[in-house]
Amino acid sequence: MNIDTIAAISTPMGEGAIGIVRVSGEDAIAVADKIYKGKFPLTVLDSHTINYGHIYDPQSGETIEEVMVSVLRAPKTYTKENMIEINCHGGLVSVNRVLHLVLNQGTRLAEPGEFTKRAFLNGRIDLSQAEGVMDLIRAKTDRAMNVAMNQVEGKLSQRIQKLRQELLETVANVEVNIDYPEYDAEEMTVTILQEKGTFVQKEIERLLQTAHQGKILREGLSTVIVGRPNVGKSSLLNSLVHENKAIVTEIAGTTRDVIEEYVNVRGVPLRLLDTAGIRDTEDIVEKLGVERSRKVLNEAELVLLVLNQNEPLTDSDLELLKLTEENDSIIIVNKADLEDRIDIEYVRKLAGNRPVLATSLVRDEGVDELEEAIRDLFFEGDLDTGDMSYVSNSRHIALLHQAKQSVEEALGAVDADMPVDMIQIDITRAWELLGEVIGDSAQESLIDQLFAQFCLGK
Ligand code: GDP
Ligand code: ZN
Repeated sequence: MNIDTIAAISTPMGEGAIGIVRVSGEDAIAVADKIYKGKFPLTVLDSHTINYGHIYDPQSGETIEEVMVSVLRAPKTYTKENMIEINCHGGLVSVNRVLHLVLNQGTRLAEPGEFTKRAFLNGRIDLSQAEGVMDLIRAKTDRAMNVAMNQVEGKLSQRIQKLRQELLETVANVEVNIDYPEYDAEEMTVTILQEKGTFVQKEIERLLQTAHQGKILREGLSTVIVGRPNVGKSSLLNSLVHENKAIVTEIAGTTRDVIEEYVNVRGVPLRLLDTAGIRDTEDIVEKLGVERSRKVLNEAELVLLVLNQNEPLTDSDLELLKLTEENDSIIIVNKADLEDRIDIEYVRKLAGNRPVLATSLVRDEGVDELEEAIRDLFFEGDLDTGDMSYVSNSRHIALLHQAKQSVEEALGAVDADMPVDMIQIDITRAWELLGEVIGDSAQESLIDQLFAQFCLGK
């Protein structure tokens, strides 16, 4: 158990007008008070107050920063520990100076995610809620944000808890059967096993059905735009970026920070791939060769293939139509404002059941239809994120699959008239697996690993 006091800058690094230094731990308030001058010492102030004052260097006496300091006393805080938040106004340099002063008073720099980890370890939130916090930090669109927020609020946890409760009742029932066989409760036990088991299995299935879309919302769709030179790929990229705010996210990884660019198309976050310059590929086949092109395209989750209506199909067009056959792809016949020289019927035939759309990017025509087609490809109807709805985390998905399997094994064993104590093993296993989703039986190393993925100061 860590009981030392930790500190970090909890606002994004950069130009932000306000920077916040966060301190958490038993000594947080006393520590901050050593470098604070205000109307009253922080140590006597009420909890959940925000106080105007100055931060100064106790060694030189120099005033460093004009600040607002929040005093938050345990246990009603994010970490359930004493907390201080120092709001600085003077940009990155002074935020850093304030942090250093705090660290000089005997606190330790927080590891990435350590504040949230403490919230988890101190029982304020469960693991799926903590993961929701991480998703929230990284959310690309409002919808992804809703999904993450629901998770933080514990909606997924509640559903998991309910399923675990059902399983527990089932186990308890089996237990009675084992302990008091003379009651001949066997028939009843079998019925309960079947009913509850089937219920849990169906519920897990419903959760898993949301997983595919949840994953897209959470991670974005890797997208490539391909086509011959001059067909309008850059124009397409520009109009997608132009109409939809491009979001650049900084993800603090364990080893390095990655910058990714997203475009939010009707709630679907497109992650525009830019490896080996394939984001706007002048001639992917020529550049990479057929084999490598196929590999690159296989990694893309969405391919936008652009053709030019003003020119007859070329071998390159045909090659690309063939290469993208296996992909979720949309064929865009651009330059619809110019003379029609393409055999559109032939294009449709080669396209199979992929959508074929006409656009004139110079006239900004057809882009709405394209955006609708992108959304329809991945989501049926409107996205509903009102309730919990989406399981979006791959760790959860894997655990749910395993839990479902255990329940199914239990149901199979019931059908095969296996002894109830055998069945109990499967049910208990499912109960444990569901527990891992919310961190009930997760091992410590897993927990460390998960929290290490957080940004600093969270
Ligand atoms: P890329 O080489 O595939 O990236 O193509 P660009 O987007 O750079 O476009 C090539 C040229 O075609 C530019 O001069 C564009 O202005 C023009 N262009 C793009 N879309 C259209 C369109 O819908 N109609 C017409 N007439 N010209 C277009
Ligand atoms: Zn281009």
